[in-house]
This record gives sequence, structure tokens and C-alpha cells, in this order.
Amino acid sequence: MTDNEKIYVTKTFMPPMEEYMEEIRDLWDSAWITNMGEKHRELEEKLRCSLGVDALSLMSNGHMALEMCLAAMHLVGEVITTPFTFASTTHAIARNHLTPVFCDIRPDDYTIDASKIEDLITEHTCAILPVHVYGNVCDVDAIADIADRHGLKVVYDAAHAFGVERDGRGIGTYGDASVFSFHATKVFHTVEGGAVSYSDPAFGQRLYELKNFGILDETTVAGIGANAKMSEFHAAMGIVNLRYHEANVRRREAIWKIYCRELSGIDGLQIPEDARDKAAQGTASRCRQSRNYSYFPVVIDPEAFGADRDQVAERLALQNVFVRKYFYPLSSDYDCYKGILAHGETPVADRVSASVITLPLFPSMRKEDAYRICDMIRNCRL
Ligand SMILES: *Cc1c(COP(=O)(O)O)cnc(C)c1O
Repeated sequence: MTDNEKIYVTKTFMPPMEEYMEEIRDLWDSAWITNMGEKHRELEEKLRCSLGVDALSLMSNGHMALEMCLAAMHLVGEVITTPFTFASTTHAIARNHLTPVFCDIRPDDYTIDASKIEDLITEHTCAILPVHVYGNVCDVDAIADIADRHGLKVVYDAAHAFGVERDGRGIGTYGDASVFSFHATKVFHTVEGGAVSYSDPAFGQRLYELKNFGILDETTVAGIGANAKMSEFHAAMGIVNLRYHEANVRRREAIWKIYCRELSGIDGLQIPEDARDKAAQGTASRCRQSRNYSYFPVVIDPEAFGADRDQVAERLALQNVFVRKYFYPLSSDYDCYKGILAHGETPVADRVSASVITLPLFPSMRKEDAYRICDMIRNCRL
């Protein structure tokens, strides 16, 4: 890159334009461009296979997928969730007239700390909504065990975890349902889009109704639905992008490995592989999970490293590298949720949120830029 070319945390993958044009050509013949047409059916089936899930319902975006999913469960009361996530997770709970109850996260992979969930369960608790943050798999066994014992629903926000498998099983098969986002910035995208994976056909029927105004047939409206349908143009983008998914993951992996090699062993920096190795030593039973290389978070201990998170972000920005502070602030610190949590009740999430950056990582990123960024980070200590 030239020195003044800007590098952002991500850059949307664009497939060859002609290929997309070819894919949408037949839409001009059918003139069926939304409302669960041919492309919608095709993408749903292709994703069902590639994600290894029983069933899947496409949605207009990941957020509506979350909202529709919670609505289809007819939940009332409190939902235990993580504050270390994108605004959407918490908003989907609140917009369903449910109360978010924030649980702390684990220091190694930043997913919800299952050992702290049970303390938060009350007679009003109806569900757990953990997030496979950065594509790291939650402690799904412990969460299933707690949910079983207390009769709770489990919905995973798998917006970061497209294509991730655990012990060879698709991540969308865990819990009662999982929600994916296909936003332009995600590992796999349909411009805007999302999906709910599930296995109960009756639940799938409710999802289908909810995303289409609650309409059953021409004269019957079964419930208070919304409009969360994915259009044929978006589905067509997904069909094309899916062909490039594996190659894109491999290109992300190459950048990821440079970051790992160049940033490991530096005092005060916690990077994903280090954290996972530490975790593996602690709990020998932890399962194998694949990676989709969606995000590369670096947690900076200012004392040990010699510069804090904000200083590092500023130094990189001066050199035209724009990292993101995902996830800062915690959703529990938004004005709309303040007061739900006394400060200090999620000490790990507080600390990680104050000290994390996610580095640029996208398929078309050049290796020399990854090396340069690592140099810049090392130089922040001086
Ligand atoms: C992106 C994202 C969403 C929302 O998905 P959209 O498709 O942008 O609506 C929800 N949760 C998490 C964790 C996300 O990163």
C-alpha cells in the first residue's frame, strides 16, 4: 500500500460483478424479486447444507432474525445475556419486552462465563442468549446443562460464527436456535441479511409467519408479525458469495497467522491463540472448534505493555490504520440500559472492553500490511 492509503478493520468482499449479473438475470424473466422466491429457496437449502443444520429461515438482517427468533418463542421475563456484544443482541431482547440480565464473560475467549449464569437465575428467567463472540464457541455443554435443569430456552447469537464447527458439528445446531448475520461486514454476506437455524418444525412455521406479517393465507393473519423477508437480490448475492467462502476463509487465515506469529510473546498483549492455549491447559476437556478467522482481537494490559488501548488506537490512526474497539462500550453501559447493572458486577467484561482492539482482517488484505501493522503496534511501546 502507499503510505497514505487507509486500512479499516474490514473491507466488504465483492464477488466478480459479471457473476452476480448472471445470477440475477432470470429475475427479469420471472419478475419475482421478493417474498420467498426461487433464490430464497436455493440459498436457504445451500446454507442449511453448508452450516450443517436441520433447518434455516432466512431474514432481512441479523437483527430481525434475533427479534423474530425471540418473538417466536413467546418469551416473558428475564433473559441472561452478555454485555460484551454488538448493540443488536441487547436491543433484540428489550424490543421483545424482555429484560436483559447481564452476565460476566470469560477472560480467555470473551464468551459468557457459564459458571456465573446460575447466580443470575430468578423465577422470572426464561432464556439464555449467549454470543459466540469473535467466532469463539461458548461453553455450550455447561449452558445446555443449566438450561435443562432450569427449563430455560437457549438462543445463540452466532453472528460472528458463520461456518464454525465444534467437534465436527455445525455451530448452529446448539441450543434451541442460533442467529446468523449476513451483513456486508461479516465473514459471509448477502449485503444485508441473516438467518435463524433451528430444528423444531413448529418453531420454523412461527418464524415464517412472523417474518411475513403473521400472514397464513390470503384471508388469515395468525399473529402480530413484522416484515423481515430477504429479497431475491440479496439471496442471489449470497448464492454467489457462498462459492467464494472457503477461499475467503483461507485468505483470512493467512493474515491471522501473521498476526499470531508477529504478536505472540509480547508482554501485555493477549491474542487469540495464546488465550486458547492457556484455556486448553486449564480445562483438558475443552472441545475442538474450527475457526472462521472473523476477528483478531488484541487485549492490551497497559501496565505490562507500556501503552494503553486508546494510545495504541490513536498511534495506528495517525498511520492510517483504523482499528475498532469491539466491544466498547459494553451494552450495559448504554444510556438505555444504565441502572440494570451496578458497575463492577461484570469485572472481566469491564476490563476487556476497556482494553481491546480488533485489528484489520479481510480477504483482500495484503500480507505486507499485516506485517506493517504489527510493527506499528510493537513501536507503540516506545
Ligand atoms: C452484526 C451483528 C448482529 C446484527 O446483525 P445485522 O445483520 O447487522 O442486523 C447481531 N449480533 C452481533 C454479535 C453482530 O455482530
